[in-house]
Amino acid sequence: MARVELRNVWKKFGSVEVIKGVDIDIEDGEFVVLVGPSGCGKSTLLNLVAGLETLTSGDIRIGEDVVNDIPPKDRNIAMVFQSYALYPTKSVRENITFGMQTRGIERSVQEEALGDVSQLLHIDQLLDRKPGQLSGGQRQRVAMGRALVRNPDVFLFDEPLSNLDAKLRVEMRTEVKKLHLRLGKTIIYVTHDQIEAMTLASRIAVMDNGHIRQFGTPEEIYENPVDLFVAGFMGSPS
Ligand code: ADP
Ligand code: MG
Repeated sequence: MARVELRNVWKKFGSVEVIKGVDIDIEDGEFVVLVGPSGCGKSTLLNLVAGLETLTSGDIRIGEDVVNDIPPKDRNIAMVFQSYALYPTKSVRENITFGMQTRGIERSVQEEALGDVSQLLHIDQLLDRKPGQLSGGQRQRVAMGRALVRNPDVFLFDEPLSNLDAKLRVEMRTEVKKLHLRLGKTIIYVTHDQIEAMTLASRIAVMDNGHIRQFGTPEEIYENPVDLFVAGFMGSPS
């Protein structure tokens, strides 16, 4: 497991400031949900933690290490996106183990990881199918499987369920919660769905225009919003 700390993190695209001095301390094994309106900088913040974007200034620490100059593959993280591009011509098995193959991980170790993860996600009967033969929910499970086999200390989720229909979204939400209880990993999870945030989070970070307005437990945020923005955002349906 690992703590994640952001210290005075800024990100500019050209002259446009998108992340404006974010400080946040995420504890080992916490499930932090990042919410906020479209365009407020949620994905950018996650990409900075993942190393997919470079900081303009500030520090990001994962576990003991300042990771500012560490490439994504060495950051001990795995990311699941909204548009979970699976390889269409590869089987579920190959989609999940591909990353391990390219890293030269021993065959028996690959098989064991694949077995564990596919049971956990209830896709162990689907390993020989191609992505085109799966439902949306099953495809999203495969995408999660691909992240899980990396067995990182920190998971980053960017609106992983927003392409699913409402019923599946609720079902997968429960799965994600179970996964967290079972694995105890640190998770940073972006959503624009307030209900999802309230049900999943150990703490919620409410973001607006490059700032974190409030960081607290769902109860704190719901009962004591610090300002009208937080009250308005959390109080309105998504
Ligand atoms: P969110 O995920 O909260 O919807 P984003 O982090 O995607 O927001 O975007 C925040 C702001 O940064 C938006 O105004 C967006 O247009 C801008 N932005 C994001 N990525 C880039 C980029 N690569 N170049 C320029 N502007 C960007
Ligand atoms: Mg986004």
